[in-house]
Amino acid sequence: MRVVYKGGNVPKSVQNNRKEIINWLLSADEKDIIDIKEVVIKEPEPNRMYPTVKCEFCGGLVMETRPEQIDGKYACIPCAQR
Ligand SMILES: [Zn+2]
Repeated sequence: MRVVYKGGNVPKSVQNNRKEIINWLLSADEKDIIDIKEVVIKEPEPNRMYPTVKCEFCGGLVMETRPEQIDGKYACIPCAQR
């Protein structure tokens, strides 16, 4: 769920007056002020979805999603930075 404040709906007559804006907000219909949207939040895929590969330099496991490769060989980040 996401609440979107529709500032554009504030009448021009009160826009420059903070006090009047507040009064207007208090009296206005909620649906005139905010838009509640259903937002589909994509759940992060669990780590097990990512195969791990073996770093060919130190033998440590590194996720295949972010492989660093040196001469075509998988390298973990520390090894790649070496
Ligand atoms: Zn390594």
